[in-house]
Amino acid sequence: MIRCREPLYRPPAEAGSLILQAAYGCAHNRCTFCGMYKGVRYQVRPEAELFGEISEAARLYPETRRVFLADGNALGLGYDRLRPLLERLAEAFPRLARVNLYANCRSIAALTDGELTGLRRLKLNTLYTGLESGSQRVLDLVHKGESAAETVRQVRRAEAAGFTCSVMVLVGLGGQSYSEEHADATAAALNLMRPTLLSALRVIPPGVLFDGFRELTEYQAVGELHRLIGLLELERTVFRADHPSNPAPLAGRFPQDKYRLLAELEATRRGGLLDRDGPGRRPFAL
Ligand code: SF4
Repeated sequence: MIRCREPLYRPPAEAGSLILQAAYGCAHNRCTFCGMYKGVRYQVRPEAELFGEISEAARLYPETRRVFLADGNALGLGYDRLRPLLERLAEAFPRLARVNLYANCRSIAALTDGELTGLRRLKLNTLYTGLESGSQRVLDLVHKGESAAETVRQVRRAEAAGFTCSVMVLVGLGGQSYSEEHADATAAALNLMRPTLLSALRVIPPGVLFDGFRELTEYQAVGELHRLIGLLELERTVFRADHPSNPAPLAGRFPQDKYRLLAELEATRRGGLLDRDGPGRRPFAL
């Protein structure tokens, strides 16, 4: 039987994938901006249970081409658990093209170059990684538990091993006090990282993110994203900021669309419709 335990999250791009929960929750679970797995005890699922689910899924959906391994940071399962899991998926689904998952910087760092290459050969393809901010001060304030410089290094390593890295940054994470620092340091980190895919979401604070945090107004959030994009010098990155958390949906490719993206943000800012006193209308969560 295929079990889905709520809450179950996946990136928007995985809407058509078969979702398999290799673990429940997030081993870190301390980021103040993330309410995804609060109240969920982290638990790696037994291999026999997972293999049973894969057999059942193969019977029901034999044409599966894409699988997403949930929950938060499934790469943290490590090489010895992921290798047999990927082998079993390839056996069960003859048309399998790719397996994708969430991955943090420490779980990439924990793999040797040989292990990264080995997992890539077994069709592990896209690593969804949250940089969130390039400012170490902001990352520490929100208890991210990662180093921005190390995330840059590990994304470069993973892409050199053949993975596609889809990197997320959070507009507004530094609040009003650190907005400029957050935008500038995030652009600097991304310019070094050069991810294949980049998405910018606006943070929806589930509470106070850190002492003294003051959320950006809608107008300020658009200004922060404008500042960040203006500083990006990327050579081959697909960019999206079309999540419902963003006041103005944006999508394009770097470098060719940079000035169009800036012009669209500028038009939104001048349009007179943005809330200058508060966060404006938003979805309930990221
Ligand atoms: S942002 Fe990622 S690492 Fe942080 S608590 Fe949420 S799932 Fe865990």
